[in-house]
Amino acid sequence: MTNKPKIVCPQCGKKDTWRSDNKYRPFCSERCKLIDLGDWADEKHRVPAEPVDFPDENDKNEQ
Ligand SMILES: [Zn+2]
Repeated sequence: MTNKPKIVCPQCGKKDTWRSDNKYRPFCSERCKLIDLGDWADEKHRVPAEPVDFPDENDKNEQ
């Protein structure tokens, strides 16, 4: 009887067999893990970047 635990990779949706030695779980592979981490990094970069008018410190020095 084969009752191996299965995982579905949250990144690519690929069904895979759970392996306790799979250090990339719950992803199927290192690639999917990196993609997921990349997505998270992208989210962080997606902070609304509004132009900010910094007072020009150099101007102050010149006066
Ligand atoms: Zn995957």
